[in-house]
Amino acid sequence: MVSRINTGWHDRNRMPLGATFEERMDWHLAHSRSCNCRPAPPKVAAELRKRGLL
Ligand SMILES: [Zn+2]
Repeated sequence: MVSRINTGWHDRNRMPLGATFEERMDWHLAHSRSCNCRPAPPKVAAELRKRGLL
């Protein structure tokens, strides 16, 4: 599988240093819609699914 990184999106969307869990969820949600370089961590993905966002 070729990993497809959307470098433009990553340049515009840096994960804030010391991001809270909520901030990381927002980031991974936006990330999953714009880039496929890596999946969200299991804890983040599970919470997003629980909220019906993923
Ligand atoms: Zn990415």
